[in-house]
Amino acid sequence: MTSCLPCLNMTPNFGTSRNGRPVIEMGPYRFHMWSGSKVAAYAVSRFGKPVIQYQGHRYYKNSGSRGVKLLWRCVKARSKNCRATLHTVNNVIYSLNNEHSH
Ligand SMILES: [Zn+2]
Repeated sequence: MTSCLPCLNMTPNFGTSRNGRPVIEMGPYRFHMWSGSKVAAYAVSRFGKPVIQYQGHRYYKNSGSRGVKLLWRCVKARSKNCRATLHTVNNVIYSLNNEHSH
């Protein structure tokens, strides 16, 4: 599989805008959180890792995920053996496995 998109090799940078809203910077691009229904609400866990709050569940970024397309796992993946995951592309949720075990 090949891809000519240069941004696939970029690592998103999670930060906060001047008015306190979460932003993601990726190369020359800058993404703002907004209240669209399919847009992930990004936050930061108490360990300083990015998390997504979506439909009442929280997701951690999979540590192996890089680039534009990211895999996120439910925070209860270990403690409750939860298999729910979601994928984001450019800050937008494009697929969701909503099978939570809890
Ligand atoms: Zn879950």
